[in-house]
Amino acid sequence: MSEPILTVVVPCFNEEDVLQDTMLQLSIHLTKLIHEGLVHPKSKLLFVDDGSTDRTWDIIQEHSASVPFVAGLKLARNVGHQSALLAGLLEAKACSDCTISIDADLQDDISVMREFLLKYKEGCDVVYGVRSSRKRDTFFKRTTAICFYRFLRQMGADVVHNHADYRLLSRRALQALSCYEERNLFLRGIIPLLGFRSAIVPYERKERLAGESKYPLRKMLSFAFDGITSFSVTPIRLVTLLGFCICLCSLLLGGYSVLQQFIGSTVPGWTSLMLSIWMLGGAQLMGIGLIGEYVGKMYKEAKRRPRFHIEASSYAQKMELQEWM
Ligand code: UDP
Ligand code: MG
Repeated sequence: MSEPILTVVVPCFNEEDVLQDTMLQLSIHLTKLIHEGLVHPKSKLLFVDDGSTDRTWDIIQEHSASVPFVAGLKLARNVGHQSALLAGLLEAKACSDCTISIDADLQDDISVMREFLLKYKEGCDVVYGVRSSRKRDTFFKRTTAICFYRFLRQMGADVVHNHADYRLLSRRALQALSCYEERNLFLRGIIPLLGFRSAIVPYERKERLAGESKYPLRKMLSFAFDGITSFSVTPIRLVTLLGFCICLCSLLLGGYSVLQQFIGSTVPGWTSLMLSIWMLGGAQLMGIGLIGEYVGKMYKEAKRRPRFHIEASSYAQKMELQEWM
């Protein structure tokens, strides 16, 4: 196999604090990989600006103008990490043999890209970077992440434990990924569904180079909820089961009340009445909310709105230019 053309896709949202450093480190690393003959000289770094409001796009443009293997893709507005990443992957699909996606803060160890490529050369279509330890993450992030992955697995989604979005995808896998047209995107759940030969490469997760996490609690919760409800109908089944159990309890409670009435020992129970009203009310609201979540998702999917709009891109142009040189 001749050297593959690699595109490293980096989604960026308000990353001005970290971007210069990231570009430098990735550029040095890509140059090394090219010199080692692991990837083709046409390989690129593609920075996707996910509607940033700071200088992120200016920095990308500056580098794109001066460094031949740096390209930029600007999305018209902020669409979130997953959709921004997908935009980059789809942009890279036509001109790359494989892609590696990585976050802009370089928390993921770039030196393991070499192992990704070796696995690719062995015939793997998907290579997952897996965090061997999360010591650098905060206690809160670590525990919520453990619960989230465990819960997702129990709900039937086949996610790779401790894998975020640091992964290599072959052209074949990208082609397959582009057939998934869902709007509620959860790549960590979709990629294992593609099938193909895959491998896992462990690495140590580092701290953010600079800047703050772009995943505040609100976004994290919404991401987790989307992940779960996009991949499993088990929660809705659980609600049905809960409803069934509550009905059963109500029957027992009803029987007990009738018995009490016959024995005539109590005033009709205010406590049990209130309890059942609250319990049933709560369960019903929960059920309606959950059903609403699924209906909302179906509504979104039915509209088939575009997942992102591209405002500017230098990727295809750069690839074509190199073709002529
Ligand atoms: N990101 C993005 N759009 C968003 C939020 C985040 O493209 O709306 C990017 C961000 O720039 C980074 C990656 O997604 O490259 C992961 O975000 P972050 O590192 O803040 O998440 P954390 O590691 O804290 O979970
Ligand atoms: Mg990060």
